[in-house]
Amino acid sequence: MFSSRRRAAAVAAAACLVLLAPIQASVSAEPTTASQENALYTVANTDSASRTEINRTGALVLSVSGGVATIEASPEQAEQLRAAGFTLKKETTVSEALRRRNGTQRVPGDFPPEDQGYHNYDEMVAELDATVADHPDIAAKSSIGTSFEGRDIPVLKISDNVGQDEDEPEVLFDCNQHAREHLTTEMCLHIAKRFTDNYSDPAVKDMVDNREVWIIPVVNPDGSVYDVESGQYRGWRKNRQDSGTDLNRNWGYKWGCCGGSSDDPNDETYRGAAAWSAPETAAMRDFIDSRVVGGQQQIKAAIDFHTYSELVLWPFGHTTDDVTEGMTQEEYDRFARVGQEMAESNGYTPQQSSDLYITDGDSLDWMWGQHKILAYTFEMYPANGGGLDGFYPPDEVIEQETARNDGAVDILLREAGA
Ligand SMILES: [Zn+2]
Repeated sequence: MFSSRRRAAAVAAAACLVLLAPIQASVSAEPTTASQENALYTVANTDSASRTEINRTGALVLSVSGGVATIEASPEQAEQLRAAGFTLKKETTVSEALRRRNGTQRVPGDFPPEDQGYHNYDEMVAELDATVADHPDIAAKSSIGTSFEGRDIPVLKISDNVGQDEDEPEVLFDCNQHAREHLTTEMCLHIAKRFTDNYSDPAVKDMVDNREVWIIPVVNPDGSVYDVESGQYRGWRKNRQDSGTDLNRNWGYKWGCCGGSSDDPNDETYRGAAAWSAPETAAMRDFIDSRVVGGQQQIKAAIDFHTYSELVLWPFGHTTDDVTEGMTQEEYDRFARVGQEMAESNGYTPQQSSDLYITDGDSLDWMWGQHKILAYTFEMYPANGGGLDGFYPPDEVIEQETARNDGAVDILLREAGA
């Protein structure tokens, strides 16, 4: 059933290609001159402290490879960094990077023709519905709430006796807090497909029967839709509330505490007017809070998927200290041990979140700080993506780069029962 539906979807997608139109001259509705534009720069020899300093200007570190950071910055931010002693090498402007990636053809309202393997929002919802239709005994779809623009944020539950709240450890996988990180949506859909289509596999059945798995493929539906709706990638990260809030800086544990987010609405890491000011994070909070049953948080472990850099990250993000308020040495050692084991299975680099740079108001810190959920952030493929291209890998990699995390997902499910 499942594969025939996918084939039908592929045929429908192929049919859409007749709508292909040559693009207009510019990807952007508002023309800007090169000197005013955000651009991508590389900065050599960075460490956690200097990357945090870079982000504090409102610029954003996109990836790090061998100490070389690729950053996105406005002209003012670049000037500020140079004045502070950083050596920035300009690679390209953001619009030029997008123009190169986008090519010359598009499918209005959807991913570019060569990336039709990605699920847009409607296709994601259809995929969840198909999963439930094919596996009604072990899969159920509901909603955690709606986005700023009123789109539903669906959640899929997978377990035996799926209609009952059994006394089993719960595990949460959420994806696409950041709009342009579309590969993560495929990651969540891959987990859903694997745990349902492969239920006859005894190892999978054992996991499904003894856990309650929650999957939220798109935390940021408005941003995700906005990023592709013109038929070309926009490089959009935030939600669509006013000039956009960085959802992964809007969570309520030590929100805005530590220079790991921005108070400027124009910045990529804008934390919002207050903790939980974004409807999407508030919906996540309410859902996770609702899993406290009889005084016990039922969700024991979680992965929040992002792209890119191939990292396994654990709390805390707001401090470089290992042991601090809310984190004992024993707890930290467990995070590191499980994180390293997962990283061995997928080839990512394991580290504390703040080893990348300081963040505050992220989901990881809240899940652990508030609920003691064994929470990880995965930064998926690629390890080093050349700036914005790293957010838009070709759809040919979806299967390999999502299956790559099967082992890590299984380790997390095991650990949820430990
Ligand atoms: Zn992200």
